[in-house]
Amino acid sequence: MIRFHDTLSGEKKPLSLKVEGEAGVYVCGPTVYDYAHLGHARCYVVYDVLIRHLRESGLNVKYVRNITDIDDKILKRSAENGEEPTALAERFTAAFQEDMRILGCADPDVEPKVSEHLEGIFEMVQTLIDKGHAYESDGDVYFSVESCKDYGKLSHRDLEQMLSGASGRLDENQTSRKKNAADFALWKKGKEGVEGWDSPWGRGRPGWHIECSVMSTAHLGPTLDLHGGGLDLVFPHHENEIAQAECATGQPFCDHWVHNGFVQVDGEKMAKSVGNFFTARELFHRVLPEAIRFFMMTVHYRSPLNLDWTLDDEGNVTGFPQIEEAEKRVEYLYQTRRRLNAVPEKRIIDSGIAPRELTGLEKGISEAFDDDLNMPIAVARVSEFLKAVNEACDAAMKKKGKLPKASYEAALAGFATIETRLGLGTADPETTLNTVRDRRAAARGLTPADVEAQIEARANARAEKNFEQADEIRKALSEKGIELHDGPEGTTWSAV
Ligand SMILES: [Zn+2]
Repeated sequence: MIRFHDTLSGEKKPLSLKVEGEAGVYVCGPTVYDYAHLGHARCYVVYDVLIRHLRESGLNVKYVRNITDIDDKILKRSAENGEEPTALAERFTAAFQEDMRILGCADPDVEPKVSEHLEGIFEMVQTLIDKGHAYESDGDVYFSVESCKDYGKLSHRDLEQMLSGASGRLDENQTSRKKNAADFALWKKGKEGVEGWDSPWGRGRPGWHIECSVMSTAHLGPTLDLHGGGLDLVFPHHENEIAQAECATGQPFCDHWVHNGFVQVDGEKMAKSVGNFFTARELFHRVLPEAIRFFMMTVHYRSPLNLDWTLDDEGNVTGFPQIEEAEKRVEYLYQTRRRLNAVPEKRIIDSGIAPRELTGLEKGISEAFDDDLNMPIAVARVSEFLKAVNEACDAAMKKKGKLPKASYEAALAGFATIETRLGLGTADPETTLNTVRDRRAAARGLTPADVEAQIEARANARAEKNFEQADEIRKALSEKGIELHDGPEGTTWSAV
């Protein structure tokens, strides 16, 4: 049984679906005015793993992840750049989609844009006005929080407290337009000279929250099975999504609310506004993107993920120790895969049985994910599996060694499980391992050609029985982190 922690009830509870076998999932997408940073990467990797788990559990999933392409930040950035807002939004939408694919995230089934749902927004806002849940005020339209009987239920806040908190934050202009300090905008009147859209209430733009109530219900119906997003969205964004949708449709909005923790730097949330962020693409040339994905899985999705990096004397970033550690583990996955591929067919024999560590991976991961998407446990299961594959390869490659066919097939099935469930190990082992090796060598000032030349010089020295010189070459390379491996088909090398 699949159970996730639900923010609304405050408990871990079974996923209950509106229609058996069908899951409608909505995740708040990015505001496209800049490149995705590691906080975004974590969020969408988490939901990608969640969606994979639902699918692997036999559910037919409709995954909707929106694009916020109408927003003040987009307008501000486009004015700074001298670029059309639409062009800027399209550019960063494409960059976001590309980055998510590089991180191994499957595309959502539907990726609605706010700019394509303005009619739906007008309709829902009008319905809320007609039902007495919203009111127009000098070109703005506000949602009346007092009209919503259980406003505050998701964030477990008391309306009285919110009112006293909100009143202190408003300027005079807002106070005069609102009936109640905690009321929030469904439509905002446009300022002179700023891009806007025509609405029944005049020119302006939608409030941020209304878009998700409209896009989610447009694609998934009035009641969603699961809604996800970052922890920072619980209040006010998701609280307001519920209020708008439930007051408009009269039906429960969502059964299950899942929220992922932040990527943190020194205990503070990584955010554009704080300036303590790294974009995902900044890291793509430093580490394997898969290592970033792996790193995200090493911590429970609800916990904060602390990011660390190292600096040189001039304050330049020199490395990301945790992600580099994750890269070593991804490397180990590919090395193991390569070893299995290298077992000669004649050593694979029909007799013998496969150990539990090889056969139990799928079940182990599935059970870990059923229990509130426990990715660290799933990653631990993968480590046990890889260890068992290496042991099987050790046994197969020793003199007169054999590999039971059952073990071989269980190992292949295990790698397939890692690909489909975790989105790891999907690339070609040789190419991936060489990429990492060459990058590490380059960091020490060596090109693959340099290393190959040294390997050749060493082979020549050995051929001339000059073993002292051959050893010196090996030692010099080793000091630069380059290790040589002599095999029946010549010498290969790796970089640590
Ligand atoms: Zn949203």
